[in-house]
Amino acid sequence: MDGHHFPNLPLMKLSAWYKSQGEQVTWYEPLFHSIGEPFGRVYLSKVFRFTPDYPYCVNTKELLKGGSGYCISLEGGKEVYHKEKDTQLPYEVERIYPDYGLYPGLTKDTAYGFLSRGCPRGCSFCHVQAKEGGKAYKAADLSEFWKGQKNIVLLDPNITACKECKQLFQQLIDSHSWIDFSQGLDIRMLTEEKAEMLGKMNIRNIHFAWDRFQDKEIVIPKFKMVKDITGYDYRNLTVYLLTNFDSTTEEDLERVYTLRDLGLNPYVMIYNKEEFVKCDKNGKPAGRKPEKELRKKYTHEQIRHFDVCWKIQRWVNNRTIFRSCLRFEDFYRDSRKMVESVPGSVLQ
Ligand code: SF4
Repeated sequence: MDGHHFPNLPLMKLSAWYKSQGEQVTWYEPLFHSIGEPFGRVYLSKVFRFTPDYPYCVNTKELLKGGSGYCISLEGGKEVYHKEKDTQLPYEVERIYPDYGLYPGLTKDTAYGFLSRGCPRGCSFCHVQAKEGGKAYKAADLSEFWKGQKNIVLLDPNITACKECKQLFQQLIDSHSWIDFSQGLDIRMLTEEKAEMLGKMNIRNIHFAWDRFQDKEIVIPKFKMVKDITGYDYRNLTVYLLTNFDSTTEEDLERVYTLRDLGLNPYVMIYNKEEFVKCDKNGKPAGRKPEKELRKKYTHEQIRHFDVCWKIQRWVNNRTIFRSCLRFEDFYRDSRKMVESVPGSVLQ
């Protein structure tokens, strides 16, 4: 349901399992399949809570829905996990080698999977601990979803907190494939030994997160350590910064400037952004929702704070602008001028 830009792992596993049972598996295409013989079973899967559900009738004898998008809701501005709405894949499906043929374009010479699950952190903006448990644990060996592909995309929530981290890192080193830790790594759990192992992997771009300003004293020495050991810098080491959640604008900017001074690349994320913006038909943000609509749920101060976070995001995440405009105040002033000269600009 989230679109076709990223392969859906549960669907690839379900497809592999059904095929192993001699069943036929195909995409349900409304244009061709909404009339005629019904499908035996159709699966809908979504990862994101804010992805709209499929609004039309499905021509099937049985319709099954699953994924985080169906068991997470937003309550009081925070994500809440509903165990009773969650559905887990049976063990034999969870551990099967995925049917990458379901997404031939996206999985060309690329393997996707989880080596670990769970997280001990319990960040209040994240549902991983409630859903997968408060301990990071090994979920699979690399060979369960990788057969020599040149690229490996990992979806682990917090592999550095996992007891078997070094064993799993060694498997990644031995693969000689290009590794993409798509969810970012927990810098607070990184030791010198783990950083050295990261330095031995083939990594084009590595991501860490610095979500809580309060972690400043812990994370800054760790960033310096990983930079010294691995030799990564702003060209290949990105740090996600969560904004619009429990931090002030001053704290957001301090994190941005600190990372830039360390020679790293900050990347701003905005909590709950989809609540505040309207999107065009391609799903791209096309402006903020009208004040009147937002005021039903949010205070004037919350809306203003979102506006500033969005401006910081535009400034930081555009590397060309960020490198040429050194202070946020200058970018803000220039963007105001631009707004005044372009009637109806989305910056308004
Ligand atoms: S460290 Fe990451 S995965 Fe763990 S609870 Fe926090 S945001 Fe979620």
